[in-house]
Amino acid sequence: MRYSAWAIAREGLTGNRGWRPAWRDPDPKPAYDVVIIGGGGHGLSTAYYLARNHGITNVAVLEKGYLGGGNVGRNTTIVRANYMLEGNSQFYSHSLKLWEGLEADLNYNVMHSQRGQIMLAHSDGQRDLFARRGNMMISQGDDAELLDVDGVRRHLPYLDFEQTRFPIFGGLLHRRGGTARHDAVAWGLARGADRRGVDLVQNCEVTGIDIENGRVTGVQTSRGAIRAKKVAIVVAGRTGQIAAMAGMRVPIESHVLQAFVTEGLKPCIDHVVSYGMGHFYISQSDKGGLVFGGDLDFYASYAQRGNLPMAEHVMEAAMTLMPMIGRARVLRSWGGIMDMSPDGSPVIDRTHVDGLYLNCGWNYGGFKAVPGSGYALAHLMATGTPHDSAAKFRLDRFETGRGLMDEEGTGAQHNLH
Ligand SMILES: Cc1cc2nc3c(=O)[nH]c(=O)nc-3n(C[C@H](O)[C@H](O)[C@H](O)COP(=O)(O)OP(=O)(O)OC[C@H]3O[C@@H](n4cnc5c(N)ncnc54)[C@H](O)[C@@H]3O)c2cc1C
Repeated sequence: MRYSAWAIAREGLTGNRGWRPAWRDPDPKPAYDVVIIGGGGHGLSTAYYLARNHGITNVAVLEKGYLGGGNVGRNTTIVRANYMLEGNSQFYSHSLKLWEGLEADLNYNVMHSQRGQIMLAHSDGQRDLFARRGNMMISQGDDAELLDVDGVRRHLPYLDFEQTRFPIFGGLLHRRGGTARHDAVAWGLARGADRRGVDLVQNCEVTGIDIENGRVTGVQTSRGAIRAKKVAIVVAGRTGQIAAMAGMRVPIESHVLQAFVTEGLKPCIDHVVSYGMGHFYISQSDKGGLVFGGDLDFYASYAQRGNLPMAEHVMEAAMTLMPMIGRARVLRSWGGIMDMSPDGSPVIDRTHVDGLYLNCGWNYGGFKAVPGSGYALAHLMATGTPHDSAAKFRLDRFETGRGLMDEEGTGAQHNLH
């Protein structure tokens, strides 16, 4: 069914009997042209664009839990295109353009809200850096405005400007940055892929990858063997484990990242705000909750839950920046498993096994990449050539040292930088 105001009115008048589940719940078939391991944002997006852009619909997405139960439904929902280095900046620019047409494309309200993102500067040096970053963003065709202190004050009057340990010197405003409702993105892509014939198979854990004579032939799963001509590993924090099934050691570490949400409040924060002197970022959801997060927990882990020291650290950063937040009550916190790459940039590439592809290394910034990543991986799998926007996301850069994109100097061990 096509969603529209007319459909709501018609269903309202006829007892709401016409609504159907947004996607089917099929059993896996014995064979597919393409199997995608992982029903997160990137896996669903890849399936969607394989069908939409290339007409490849004999596709299964295999998800060990439920669709959207991984990081795609756990992030702090920030969508932006303010990367600096060549390679990343083209990619995220392309991804943001896809976001801007995504709701119409999917016929699904993902609540994409371009409310603007402001990164705060706390020293002259940091403001200079933001000026450079802004220039890079503008030359890439994206938007950026350098703000002085009064400019920041006009947008964010509730911040602590002077009494704080790190006074605010200015900021960089990215007006097209914002948020989207994270699980709606998973649901919209799932519905779009399903409508085009893709099988979304939940509760189906991949336990092995079948390889014959250097070529992938299928996967072993908790629901039996499935043959496939092409297989993509798109499992975020589980990349190391699944890649090992194909005999690969990948330069990815799995780390926990936490997020927090407060009780619903009246509208008070109408941008995405990033603190420049610590890892802290905040926005307000449409329900009114303040949604915020901080840094990694700094130990490798497969646990989807965080630890108290980082919770304390994040609250401290929040209080330093906006003391008013101390009056809000935190309702929930949760964790996700990040696929941290050594240079902080992703991989969308073939592997040494024919027909086996790898999509990983999104660090803590892969939500905004969801449309661009699926678009590029689908292009690579369908045509055999990398999409222009992702041509630099090669796996062998970690072996040769050529083409590293150290965007933030963070990498897997960014506490060491
Ligand atoms: C707290 C937090 C805040 C974040 N904030 C932001 C943000 O504000 N902006 C931003 O851009 N990014 C953010 N991110 C990062 C972003 O969420 C991730 O980079 C991105 O979602 C990862 O890709 P994904 O959606 O495909 O991953 P996931 O949703 O994790 O998908 C991977 C899927 O693979 C499945 N899987 C694993 N093993 C198997 C198996 N053996 N068989 C079958 N399926 C398997 C998992 O169950 C999972 O569903 C944040 C992440 C977290 C945790």
